[in-house]
Amino acid sequence: MDFPQGETLDAASLERDETFSCDAVVIGSGAGGAAAAWQLCEAGLSVAILEEGRKFEPSQVSTKYSWSLQNLYAERGTTVALGNIYLPMARGRVVGGSTFLNAAICFRTPDRVLQTWARDYGVGWADPQALAPTFEEVERAIGVAKTRPDQGKANALLFKAGVDALKLEGDFISRNAAACVGCGICQMGCPLGLKGSVDRNLIPHALSRGAALFPSARAVNLIIENGAAVGVEAYGVDAATEERKRKLTFRCKKVFLCAGAIGTPLFLLRAGVANGTGQVGENLRVHLASGVVARFPQIVDMWHGAQQGYYAHLPGENAVLETFSATPEVFATQYSEYSKPVKRLRDLAGCGVMIGDVSKGRVRLADHEARSKLSYDVDRADHLVLLKGFEALSRIYFAAGAIEVHFGMPGVGPLSKMSEVEKITRRTDIPVDELPQYASHPMGTARMHADPKLGVVKPDGETHQVKNLVIADASVFPTSLGVNPQISVMTTSVTLTRLQLARG
Ligand SMILES: Cc1cc2nc3c(=O)[nH]c(=O)nc-3n(C[C@H](O)[C@H](O)[C@H](O)COP(=O)(O)OP(=O)(O)OC[C@H]3O[C@@H](n4cnc5c(N)ncnc54)[C@H](O)[C@@H]3O)c2cc1C
Ligand code: SF4
Repeated sequence: MDFPQGETLDAASLERDETFSCDAVVIGSGAGGAAAAWQLCEAGLSVAILEEGRKFEPSQVSTKYSWSLQNLYAERGTTVALGNIYLPMARGRVVGGSTFLNAAICFRTPDRVLQTWARDYGVGWADPQALAPTFEEVERAIGVAKTRPDQGKANALLFKAGVDALKLEGDFISRNAAACVGCGICQMGCPLGLKGSVDRNLIPHALSRGAALFPSARAVNLIIENGAAVGVEAYGVDAATEERKRKLTFRCKKVFLCAGAIGTPLFLLRAGVANGTGQVGENLRVHLASGVVARFPQIVDMWHGAQQGYYAHLPGENAVLETFSATPEVFATQYSEYSKPVKRLRDLAGCGVMIGDVSKGRVRLADHEARSKLSYDVDRADHLVLLKGFEALSRIYFAAGAIEVHFGMPGVGPLSKMSEVEKITRRTDIPVDELPQYASHPMGTARMHADPKLGVVKPDGETHQVKNLVIADASVFPTSLGVNPQISVMTTSVTLTRLQLARG
């Protein structure tokens, strides 16, 4: 079949096996894949974007969480890492990848993180000043603007009041959702199309300049000739059963693997490539997160307003405090003990602590190719930062007038003053699995390192072992960031793609 430039061809609908030729194949249509396709198409190349998930328009998105899990999340929302804790790990499987589900928070990579990458991992381009114009380009392309107070609403404004009272450093969060009306359900996809997830900007841009998008296409193998990647084998995927359908073969000059920090190592492990030193799937970092819920004497209705609207730095730590909301449906389940009678849900406000983790995990193949096998062990140092975050959040909420705070820990009821809080947050012997923890930012599983023994890709994104196989997603990060990653993923991908284009 001729390469369908400019078109979207659902791979599950193909009636026979097909072979295509193009300049480059991009595997994965999330933050990294869309940014790579954008740059490749700007350079005039023909690009196939393969995406295992389906494509949805805003009007097709349901506001029922169960529907989202079933249709938009990898592994139907059941991805979990097992180690010394049980860690639910959200990630997208849809055109737009995890950006389709994310809360639109936009932070640049912190200077200290870039400096560490340059100094300890040989990543020469990781220079805050030199990268500033690329950050700006990415932010412009996906429409970043600071959340307005009327978008943040009470959940953000109460937190701000506490931050201001304590004279901490905080601000409304910059988001790629300038026209957001604050319906508070970003994690189900924006039903109004007001979030700048990459399916709404970078991918349409690429399609208008030479790309073809293949939703429902799972890449399963790399075609290698003379030590260089020359193509990809993929299969159409049945949405209901997740089983393979027709085979799609792509011949190309370069492959950009952008399947995310779980999907990328799974692809490499399954294909048995680029893993001569056993680094693939190692060094999983996730931005461990937990939260505090506060009860106020007034109605908050936390589900009104941008899902995450205001933030503060956790003093002295590589961590941020970010307000969060959830729908009553989700909240009543997760915080059932604080929400009886159910109308008391209306008095609650929520804020999370998210840390630049030093704990590590691993990605391994599971029995079925649509599943993952993850492990992650929380280091005591990270656990103590989370507790420090709980203490800071409690202090902020009490300063804003909260009656009590809740930690969601077994056996710990509502806490109504700081002396009660400190009896918990100053302990150093709490079992690490007693904090409810969550993660949605997998990173680092194909990390960039100038030394081929210590990394999977070189600082220019090409794998150490397979020529013309480039990785450009969250898996190449050498370390955890300590801030939400989408801007870092896109900026890294743009930088690596341009380095590859410059090489020809
Ligand atoms: C619920 C949630 C909320 C978040 N909130 C924020 C936020 O507010 N701000 C922020 O900065 N970050 C946020 N993130 C994280 C951010 O979205 C991710 O870090 C970022 O999208 C990662 O980019 P990526 O390209 O590495 O992977 P992804 O964006 O996850 O894209 C990978 C894509 O590859 C596809 N894929 C995987 N394997 C294959 C295969 N074999 N063949 C074909 N396709 C494949 C997947 O289906 C997926 O669509 C959030 C994430 C989640 C899940
Ligand atoms: S909170 Fe804003 S960006 Fe998120 S889904 Fe609602 S309208 Fe869209």
